[in-house]
Amino acid sequence: MKNAYNAKAYSAASATSPLAADAIPRRNPTDHDVQIEILFCGICHSDLHQVRNEWREVMPTVYPCVPGHEIVGRVTKTGSAVTRYKEGDLVAVGCMVDSDHTCPNCREGLEQFCPNMTLTYNSPDKHLGGVTYGGYSDSIVVDERFVLRVPKNLDLAGAAPLLCAGITTYSPMRHWGVTKGKKIGVVGLGGLGHMAVKFAHALGAHVVVFTTSPNKKDDAFRLGADEVVVSRNADEMTKHTGSFDFILDAVSADHDINAYLNLLRRDGNITLVGAPEKPLPVSAFSLIMGRRSLSGSPIGGIAETQEMLDFCGKHNITADVEVIPIQKVNEAYDRLLKSDVKYRFSIDMASLKAE
Ligand code: NAP
Ligand code: ZN
Repeated sequence: MKNAYNAKAYSAASATSPLAADAIPRRNPTDHDVQIEILFCGICHSDLHQVRNEWREVMPTVYPCVPGHEIVGRVTKTGSAVTRYKEGDLVAVGCMVDSDHTCPNCREGLEQFCPNMTLTYNSPDKHLGGVTYGGYSDSIVVDERFVLRVPKNLDLAGAAPLLCAGITTYSPMRHWGVTKGKKIGVVGLGGLGHMAVKFAHALGAHVVVFTTSPNKKDDAFRLGADEVVVSRNADEMTKHTGSFDFILDAVSADHDINAYLNLLRRDGNITLVGAPEKPLPVSAFSLIMGRRSLSGSPIGGIAETQEMLDFCGKHNITADVEVIPIQKVNEAYDRLLKSDVKYRFSIDMASLKAE
C-alpha cells in the first residue's frame, strides 16, 4: 500500500487461534495525525471477548484481529496541521480513534455514543479499508483529537490501563454522583474493579468490594475498600440488603445480578460495565421494590478521559500491573479466565522488537 507502512503486531487469525506475531499496515500520518511508538498496552478482558468472538451477536470479530485499547507511547511524527502534540511527547490512546464530530453526542463531548464512532480495533478503517488494528503493536497512527496527554508523574506501565479500565469506571461513578457520604459497591476485583475501588475511595465514598476470590481480601483493603464481602457467602451478602446508593458491576462472566439489585436502597442504581457473553436474567421484583434501576455504561468521552487522567495525576493513581512481554499474552488470557490477575496485565512493547 502506497500510503501505508508495515508495523509489527500480535494478531489472532481466528476465534480459536492463539495470538501470534504478524505484520500489519498503518497509514502514513495525514495532516491531522499523530504517529506513536507504543511503549505499553494493557490487556482488557474485552480484548479476550473480542478475539474469541464472544460478542458475535453485537460486534462480530473480523480476522486477523489485533486487540489492545490501553495504549501509552511516545510521539514519533506529527502531521502538518497537528497543534497539540510534538515529537517526544508522552501520549495515550484509548478505545476510540475517531468519530463524526458533528452529531449531538460528539457536540456534547460524548463521542462514545456517536453512531459513527471508530473503535481502536475491529471497526471499519476509513483510511486503509479493512478494520482498525489495536495496540498490541509497535506503533499506531491516530487523529490528534483522539490522543490524550499522560501526566508526567505517572508510571507508564500502570498508566496504560487508565485508558479503558480507568475511564470505564470513572465515568459512571461521576455520572451517578459517587461522593463522600455515599455507600458504593464494586463487584468483581479485576482490572476494572480495582480501578473502581481506587476512584470511589479517592472520591470519598464508603466502598464495599464483592469478590468471589477470598484471597483478594487483603488487596481489596489495600486498594481502598472499607469492607470486603465474599459474594459466595450468602450470610455476608444479606447483611447489606437495601443499603447501597450505587453498585458498579465489573464482572466478565455469568453471575446473579438479582443478588446485587436486592442490596440497593430505594432509588439506588446498579451500573453494568462488565459485558458477559450471555444475557443476565433480571427479576422484575428486584427492580420494582425500591424503585431501583439497572443501567449500563460504555467507556467515556475524550474530554472526560483527559479529566480522569489529570485526576489520576493529581492523586497519583495508576493501575496495579503485572508487566509482561508480548510473548506471554496467551498465558495472560488463560489467567484472566481464572480471575488470576493482580490487577491488570500491561505489555511491555519493547518485547515485540524480538519478533
Ligand atoms: P477481569 O480483569 O478479567 O476481571 C473480571 C473479574 O470478574 C474477575 O477478576 C473476578 O473478580 C470476576 N469474575 C470472573 N468470573 C466470575 C464469575 N463467574 N462470577 C463472579 N465473578 C466473576 O476483566 P476486566 O478487564 O476488568 O473486564 C471486566 C468486564 O468489563 C469484561 O466483561 C469486559 O469486557 C468489560 N468491559 C466493559 C467496558 C465498557 O465500556 N463497559 C470496558 C472495558 C471492559 P473476583 O475474583 O473479585 O470475583
Ligand atoms: Zn477495555
